[in-house]
Amino acid sequence: MLDCYIALGGNLGEVAATFDLALNQLECAPGVQVALCSRVHSTAPVGNAAGPTFMNAAARLVTGLPPLAVLDLLQAVEANCGRTRDTHWGPRTLDLDVLFYGREILESARLVVPHPACWYRRFVLDPLVEIAADFRHPVKQLTVGELHARLLERPLHVSLAGGSAELRRQWIESLEREFGDVLFSTWEAAQALPREPTLVAWLGGTAVTPRDAHNQFLQLPPVSRVDATGAAAPFEFLRQLTQSIRG
Ligand code: ADP
Ligand code: MG
Repeated sequence: MLDCYIALGGNLGEVAATFDLALNQLECAPGVQVALCSRVHSTAPVGNAAGPTFMNAAARLVTGLPPLAVLDLLQAVEANCGRTRDTHWGPRTLDLDVLFYGREILESARLVVPHPACWYRRFVLDPLVEIAADFRHPVKQLTVGELHARLLERPLHVSLAGGSAELRRQWIESLEREFGDVLFSTWEAAQALPREPTLVAWLGGTAVTPRDAHNQFLQLPPVSRVDATGAAAPFEFLRQLTQSIRG
């Protein structure tokens, strides 16, 4: 048996009632107990297609099920609660994500744990800190409480590393126009500052091999680095990243 933390989100219908229904279904599933659930928080939507205000919560499950069986169960409960999969980041009745599966680090096509974005999203950490403040993120090596506290510091600071200098200059200009209260920098400039940035977004290396590029990424500070190179639309990714740390 281990602790598995999940995030609940949704913005269509009676979301709080949907969360109750989902937690009941999880509690009834063989091999799972719902040990603890946070309050329900309301959050401004991130992304353009998201629609009305989101509700978010977090829960601690105690389970003996293997990780993919937990994901299957969460997806079955999403489907039971009326979720249809259409727009990514779009309106939805229920989204259930695995945040942590014990202290395991897993990366497969269907499941990445710890959830790659759980450590910097206010809409995840605000509820999660209520129920798991002392839980230590197995990759970042900070507790949920410490990760949450980082996002409360002002100004928030997003630094851009890698990519072409010209592109970064243009993106920083656009981001500054949209997010007047957030400090944006190039990673070269950020290194001279006393405090580590809230996030350092990696936009890709100049290295010839993918392995060397990955090594360049690994030279960034472990707590704040986030790899943006996998994003289909990197500028949009940066916007969402910034929105999601501001809350
Ligand atoms: P999102 O949660 O990013 O808004 P979806 O709920 O539509 O998007 O999930 C897309 C896919 O993400 C799922 O089909 C699932 O296989 C995959 N996935 C990878 N890691 C996780 C995780 N930790 N929790 C939930 N789904 C995950
Ligand atoms: Mg999901």
